[in-house]
Amino acid sequence: MGTDCLFCRIVAGEIPATIVRETATTLAFRDIDPKAPTHVLVIPKEHYADVVTLAEGDPGLAGELLGTAAVVAEEEGLTVDGFRLMFNTGPYGGQEVFHVHAHLLGGAPLGPMLCR
Ligand code: AMP
Ligand code: ZN
Repeated sequence: MGTDCLFCRIVAGEIPATIVRETATTLAFRDIDPKAPTHVLVIPKEHYADVVTLAEGDPGLAGELLGTAAVVAEEEGLTVDGFRLMFNTGPYGGQEVFHVHAHLLGGAPLGPMLCR
């Protein structure tokens, strides 16, 4: 995917990010516009557009992404009080960046899951 994708460019080091964890296959970095006291994005380094194509294309990598999210949740001190992990997907899901990313949110009560 390369230069057309914002998160591929972060993986390539072409755009700066505050990286909190890196593995051979995944990267976790702070959201530039945090919606909670802790807001980290967890991505596979390889480009997949969304969670469906990731899960279908490489379920092992999807598991590694979840593993990285869990380690970051521990490291950020979120596991005692809890947190939210979510994948916005497609237009109804409000997805804006089409490189799959899990939002890891916590650090305060997050309120109801959805605004009505
Ligand atoms: P989504 O709406 O689920 O696609 O979420 C995209 C997220 O990427 C938003 O929460 C943005 O604040 C975040 N974002 C956009 N650009 C950057 C960037 N350069 N570094 C970190 N996070 C970003
Ligand atoms: Zn990408």
